[in-house]
Amino acid sequence: MCIFCRIANGELPASVVYEDAHTIAFLDIQPFTPGHVLVIPKQHAASLGNLSPEEAGYVMRASQIVAVALKKSGLMCEGVNFWLSDGKAAGQEVDHIHMHVFPRFPGDGFTPPTVSVEKVKQPGRAQLVQQAKMIEEAIRLVSGHFSTSDRVV
Ligand code: AMP
Ligand code: ZN
Repeated sequence: MCIFCRIANGELPASVVYEDAHTIAFLDIQPFTPGHVLVIPKQHAASLGNLSPEEAGYVMRASQIVAVALKKSGLMCEGVNFWLSDGKAAGQEVDHIHMHVFPRFPGDGFTPPTVSVEKVKQPGRAQLVQQAKMIEEAIRLVSGHFSTSDRVV
């Protein structure tokens, strides 16, 4: 059983801030900023696409609650970042999908990874059109799954 499943079923310690029938949210042990929360589905899923649309929605709903609460918590929190890494190449280390929800404030020390302006190559419209077409066609292929409770992949 994965580490986050073990947290969800109470086997491992965690500083839980929120729980409902579908999700649990707890503090990250290596916070980007103080109050950094991880929101996870109770159901194990390595990738967002392995969740049903409903389960994915519950994660977003819980993340919304956490984000609104962070701003009222008394912790330094002027803004909130949501961060979800789906896949190893995206930086996902724990194989149970999770949403990072963390407070932001000026001088918080968090520097979002950026591509340097010199390296950004602005694509031409033709390239954007081609990429949009590829994604649009793929969405058409998977979108049928969104109208049911099936998993997307
Ligand atoms: P990611 O790199 O997106 O997979 O993020 C995994 C996150 O899980 C990291 O920020 C870790 O600090 C955090 N983490 C790992 N183990 C635990 C744990 N036992 N309790 C709380 N957070 C954890
Ligand atoms: Zn798990």
